[in-house]
Amino acid sequence: MESDDRSNRLRTRCAHLCGRPEGNEPYVPPIVQSTLFNLGSAADAESIFSGERPGHAYTRFGNPTVEKLAEAISSLEGGGGALVTSSGNAATLCAVTIAMSERSGKLVTHPDIYGGSHELLAILSETYGLQVAVVDPSEEASWLDAVRNAGAVLLETPSNPLMRLIDLKATIEAARSKAAPVIVDNTVATPFNQQPFQFGADWVVQSTTKYLNGHSDVVGGCLVKREKLTPQDRRVHKNLGGTVNAMEAWLVLRGMRTFALRMEAHNRNGRAIADWLSGHPAVSKVHYPGNGGKRQAEIFGRQMSGGSGFLAFELSGGGEAADRFLDRMQLITHAVSLGGMESLATRPAMSSHRGMDPEARRLAGITDGLIRLSVGTEAPEDLIADLQRALPGGTGAYQANGGKFEVT
Ligand code: PLP
Repeated sequence: MESDDRSNRLRTRCAHLCGRPEGNEPYVPPIVQSTLFNLGSAADAESIFSGERPGHAYTRFGNPTVEKLAEAISSLEGGGGALVTSSGNAATLCAVTIAMSERSGKLVTHPDIYGGSHELLAILSETYGLQVAVVDPSEEASWLDAVRNAGAVLLETPSNPLMRLIDLKATIEAARSKAAPVIVDNTVATPFNQQPFQFGADWVVQSTTKYLNGHSDVVGGCLVKREKLTPQDRRVHKNLGGTVNAMEAWLVLRGMRTFALRMEAHNRNGRAIADWLSGHPAVSKVHYPGNGGKRQAEIFGRQMSGGSGFLAFELSGGGEAADRFLDRMQLITHAVSLGGMESLATRPAMSSHRGMDPEARRLAGITDGLIRLSVGTEAPEDLIADLQRALPGGTGAYQANGGKFEVT
């Protein structure tokens, strides 16, 4: 399907995300903020607990509002079922636990995966002896070799913060040789720009904190399965305990109704800002999905329909120039996270990756002058004016003037 066609279809799907009400049901699903449900007679309770008929007992096991969100997410990703979690990290923990159960061998991942996922795997390795192999996907032969022999694979494409792409088709084909489940963190790409199930991925994880919710007011996550969920998948999810309450689920569901519209703006602005930064004399490199050589461009063309609003760039003036830039921004906020409507910038060496030793950081490509930018949905000319003024060589104060920002 052409990408415009697909994006139109997603707009329609998002607008009708709550489903079609039956009879006199409310259009927007209610927030069922109750931990428990009346089980009725002993016979009714037995049929609910045994799964003979649908019903609810306790919100950690299942809740009508949370189930609405799970259905909506699964339909956007094109999966067979989804489980909603209290954070993106809780989703990764759940997916890794399910994928590695009854599997021997190593969990294969890559060095530039999100720092929190990296730490989570380190804890699982230290505490439970999970064997983790960290392999560089740009060395394609050794990456595919490791994947061929993996117990399971956890990958992130584009990676955060260097936006490197991994070839999903080749990786998933290699994983098939020993039936290793492949988990794709689709947080940065989102289902708007990339559908890992089309390439045969087994699980998709998302931090719904980011683009899916899009309003910077909920921490949440989800894991989606290509096939139908099994009772064992549900058992792991409810007993690991990282489930959500109805209120959070409802907020994410509401945020997702504008997901396609917001992504169109993020894609447009991300591309415009990446192009503009590439022409700035103080910027030595721009990391945006598909940039970074012929092979990256080829993967982008095959696997993604847009680059999102997430990018990073390097200042030739190093750490000092980066700090000065952060101090001079007036429209863009100095903050972590991504995917909200407001633009945010951070310096990974001092925030998300400060725990790494400097040499490991250098090897991973996180320089002192690297700035990570989550481009929001603002007017691009306002963002460019703020960047222009805050970057080396920029002058003047940034002023709000009758609702319009102007460089003076
Ligand atoms: N995956 C990616 C790519 C992320 O960037 C993040 C958070 O920044 C996470 C997972 C974890 O999400 P959360 O903070 O919701 O636990």
